[in-house]
Amino acid sequence: MLQFKELTKQYGNFTALDRFTVDLESGIYALLGPNGAGKSTMMNILVGLIAPTNGCIYYDGTDISKMDDKFRDIIGYMPQYPGFYPNFTAMDLMRYMAQMKGIPRKDAEKRCLKLLESVNLTEKKDAKIGSFSGGMRQRLGLAQALINDPKILILDEPTAGLDPKERVRFRNMVRRLSDQITVIFCTHIVSDIETIAKEILLIHHGKLLKKAAIPALVEEMQGKVWEVLPDQDGIEHLLDEYPRSSLVSRNMQTAVRIVNDTKPHPDAVSCKPLLEDVYLYMFGDDAS
Ligand code: ADP
Ligand code: MG
Repeated sequence: MLQFKELTKQYGNFTALDRFTVDLESGIYALLGPNGAGKSTMMNILVGLIAPTNGCIYYDGTDISKMDDKFRDIIGYMPQYPGFYPNFTAMDLMRYMAQMKGIPRKDAEKRCLKLLESVNLTEKKDAKIGSFSGGMRQRLGLAQALINDPKILILDEPTAGLDPKERVRFRNMVRRLSDQITVIFCTHIVSDIETIAKEILLIHHGKLLKKAAIPALVEEMQGKVWEVLPDQDGIEHLLDEYPRSSLVSRNMQTAVRIVNDTKPHPDAVSCKPLLEDVYLYMFGDDAS
């Protein structure tokens, strides 16, 4: 079990992470929030890249800052902006990571090859990373994060730069990982996690707003999601008036979908909420 207690990070007067407190067990947890919400800050503290200003993280009851290498041995980390050496081959990187994680040489070779195979990079194992596409880099990023068979896997915006097909493939790969491990999947893209997350952690301005399973989050939005089919002037007016709104296509016509506590227009009809609506409701103007 992973426990965050009052985790806080301040940069001067600016609070990037504000008394972040949560308990995580096994399964896929999505850390969902707009850019600047504090997601990477939280991840970077967890992996030991930056120190918190206040608060602690506990793993099975032990403060991770007192575990040193023992904690490093159980985490796998795929950074938001991986700085892979372009002149390394995929296999060079895997061997290097294996060495960093203290994996015995005799096991390392086999394990590196197996992981490259699991992310479909066997054919590219001796190609230089500099020649890789975005999708190949992300898959390599996942493979290197799994080198030590981590108990906690941290993925920071792992689908950035992937095309839709690669996104689906990545999602499936994460889903196939054992239920025995804790996966923290940071993203601002709802579709990345809506089919795989056990629970969603909504984070904004450094604060944890909510932790819940998707059906519960969506249920809370009942009666808050509306659609209107106005004329052209009406569309502009509604978009201006309601920042939590978007255009959708309905029977070849343009409708305005509005997330609002009360009925926004006499002709508005109530709609079945989606996770996207939760995102819009919670993050409003900052949502994009
Ligand atoms: P996210 O990953 O959710 O997009 P970050 O954790 O990267 O958000 O950033 C949270 C906030 O902290 C942002 O407003 C960012 O500008 C600020 N921040 C991050 N790192 C630093 C830093 N080294 N110095 C000052 N401010 C920072
Ligand atoms: Mg980030």
